[in-house]
Amino acid sequence: VKASVMDGDEFDEEPNELLDKPKEKLASEMLQEERKTLPIYPYRDQLLQAVQEYQVIVIVGETGSGKTTQIPQYLHEAGYTKQGKVGCTQPRRVAAMSVAARVSQEMGVKLGHEAYCTSEKTILKYMTDGMLLREILSEPNLESYSVLMVDEAHERTLSTDILFGLLKASRNPSIYDLIKFRSDLKLLISSATLDAEKFSDYFGSAPIFKIPGRRYPVEIHYTKAPEADYIDAAIVTVLQVHVTQPSGDILVFLTGQEEIETMEEILKHRTRGLGTKIAELIICPIYANLPTELQAKIFEPTPAGARKVVLATNIAETSLTIDGIKYVIDPGFAKVKSYNPRTGMESLLVNPISKASAMQRAGRSGRTGPGKCFRLYTLYNYHKDMDDNTVPEIQRTNLANVVLILKSLGIDDLVNFDFIDPPPEEALLKALELLFALSALNKFGELTKVGRRMAEFPLDPMLSKMIVASDKYKCSDEIITVAAMLSVGNSIFYRPKDKQVHADNARMNFHLGNVGDHIALLRVYNSWRECNYSTQWCYENYIQVRSMKRARDIRDQLEGLLERVEIELTSNLGDLDSIKKAITSGFFPHSAKLQKNGSYWTVKHPQRVHIHPSSGLAQVLPRWVVYHELVLTTKEYMRQVTELKPDWLVEIAPHYYQMKDVEDLKPELQSSIIY
Ligand code: ADP
Ligand code: MG
Repeated sequence: VKASVMDGDEFDEEPNELLDKPKEKLASEMLQEERKTLPIYPYRDQLLQAVQEYQVIVIVGETGSGKTTQIPQYLHEAGYTKQGKVGCTQPRRVAAMSVAARVSQEMGVKLGHEAYCTSEKTILKYMTDGMLLREILSEPNLESYSVLMVDEAHERTLSTDILFGLLKASRNPSIYDLIKFRSDLKLLISSATLDAEKFSDYFGSAPIFKIPGRRYPVEIHYTKAPEADYIDAAIVTVLQVHVTQPSGDILVFLTGQEEIETMEEILKHRTRGLGTKIAELIICPIYANLPTELQAKIFEPTPAGARKVVLATNIAETSLTIDGIKYVIDPGFAKVKSYNPRTGMESLLVNPISKASAMQRAGRSGRTGPGKCFRLYTLYNYHKDMDDNTVPEIQRTNLANVVLILKSLGIDDLVNFDFIDPPPEEALLKALELLFALSALNKFGELTKVGRRMAEFPLDPMLSKMIVASDKYKCSDEIITVAAMLSVGNSIFYRPKDKQVHADNARMNFHLGNVGDHIALLRVYNSWRECNYSTQWCYENYIQVRSMKRARDIRDQLEGLLERVEIELTSNLGDLDSIKKAITSGFFPHSAKLQKNGSYWTVKHPQRVHIHPSSGLAQVLPRWVVYHELVLTTKEYMRQVTELKPDWLVEIAPHYYQMKDVEDLKPELQSSIIY
C-alpha cells in the first residue's frame, strides 16, 4: 500500500513498503472481523461482478460504508492487482494518508518509512487526485494501473474534473480518450451524495451501484436567532451537550486550523473549571496540517465514562469517518476558494456552506444510532443564504496550472474540451494570457520550450517560471529553496501567544538589511541546513520543524527535477540582485508601486493593495515591489514581498511592460507633481 500525496501543490510523500511482520499480521486478523461488519460487505460479490461486467461504474454510498478502505482491497483479493496497481484518488492529502494507514493495518502490511518502495511492488496506491493528474504527464496511458477509483467525486475538485475529462471517451476522440484506448482499464467513480446521475450521464450512462447505508434518524435543531459569534456559540453548545446529553462523541465543523486551535484552547480552559462531577472531555483537533502522529488520535476509541469532541475542518464531512459521533455542531461555514478572472485575484474566504454540505454534516451524527445536529444558524438562513450545492472548483479558480498540463498533454482545443462543467471562458483566457506572458506559450498558443520545462514542475506556473529562469541568473540552488519554502505555505514561523515578542525578534533577524521576504525564507532554510537540520535550532528560532522538513522534501524533489530539465544546480548567494531578478522573472505580473498614503497600486490591472503586516517590509514600504500572492482578509494584502528595481520589469518582460508603465520620477519631484 502506498500513500502518495501532495500538499495542495503536488509532491510525493515518502512511499511505503509492503513488509510482512508478525505484529502487523496479528492486528490484521482482528480487523478482518471488523471489515465484515461494514455496510459494503454484503455487496462485495455483486460489486466485483459489476466491475467485471462494465468498464465504468458509478458507486454511491453513505460516508462510512467502506467504499474507500474496502473496494481497493476487494479488487486486490479478486486478483486485479496481478495486472497492475489499483489506484484510488482522494481530494485531500490527509485523507489519502489516513486511509492508506488504515488499509495497511487491515492488510497486515507495513506502511512505513524503513524501506523505499519500487512502483512494481505497490499494489494499492492512495493518492491525491492532483498526483494522478501529474502521473498522466509521465505515463499518458497509465499502463501501470489495472483499476482507477476516483473517490469523493462529489467534491468536484479541479483535479477530479480534469481527470474525468482525460479519462472519458469523449465526443471528439483524441489520444487521451483513455477509456477507449485502454479497454482493459476499469474506472470506478465513487461519491457520497446522490449526484451520481450526472457522473453516469457524463460517462455514457455508466451503471450506478448503490450501497445502502445504515442511517439512523437525526434530529436537527436550529438557533432561534442568528449567532453573532459562531465560535462562541459552538463552545457553549459543546459544553451544553457535554453536561446535559447522554454519552456519545461530538463533532464540530470549523473553517480552519486557527479557529480549531482557538476553540481547543478555550474549551480546555473552560472544562478545567467544571469540577470532578462532570465526565472528562477529550479534545481532538483534525485539519490538513496536523502532524500525522496526532491524526491517529481521532480514531482512538473514547474511554468509558469520557466524551470525545472532535474539532474538524470539512475534511470530516465525507472524507474521514470517525466512529461514535452522536452529536454534530454545525456553524454553517467553510473556507472557500474563489477567483476573480478580471483582477486575477484568488481569495480564501469564509462563506456559508451549501445545503448539500449541511445535510452531509448532519448525517455524521446518525451512523451508529439516532443522532442530533445543532445548526448554529436559523431555519430562515438555511433557506435564504445557502445554495443547494457547492460550485465546482473549476468554476472558481485560477486555471493557469491546469491549462499548462493540458497543453503539455497535447490538448490544444480547450474551449471544446469535454469538461463535466465548463470553466468560465474568461478564466480560460486569463490563464492563456498569463502563460503567454510567462513565455510558456507562443502567440499561436503552442507550448514553447520554456513551457515544456515549466510543466515538469508540480508548481504554479509563476513558480516554475522562476525556477526555469534561475538558470540564466546562475542561482538555481537558491531559487529552488525559495520555491520549496513558498510551497510550504505560511506555516514556517511559529508565534506562540505568550512569547510573541521573542518570536517576532527571532523572525526579524532573518530580515536584516530589509532583504525582503523571499530572501528571508532562503536565510531561514540555509541557517537550518548549516545547523545540520537541527530541531533544537528550530525551537530557538521559533521556526516550525514540521514545515521545514516538508520544505526539505519538496526541495529534494525540485533538485531532482532540475536535472530532468537540464538545469545545473548553481549557487549565487553573493549576488542577491540576481536571485531577485530570477524571482521577478516568474512574478513580474505581480508588481506594485507605492502610493503616498502607504498603500500600493498593482502595475497591471491596477488595484489598491497593501503589504501584509507579517512581511519584513511592512514598515519599510519600498517604492516598487514584487509579491508572491494576494490575499483578501480585512484588506487586499500582498504576502511574501520583495523590493524590485522598476527597470528590471522592462528588462525581464519587455513584452509585458513598457517604459511608461514603470517610469519613475525622482523622489524629490514626486510630491509636487504626482500627488
Ligand atoms: P467510506 O469511504 O464509504 O466513507 P471508509 O472506507 O472511509 O468509508 O470507512 C470505513 C470504516 O473504516 C469506518 O468505520 C471508518 O471509521 C474506518 N476507518 C477509516 N479510516 C480509519 C483510520 N485511519 N483509523 C481507524 N478507522 C478508520
Ligand atoms: Mg471514503
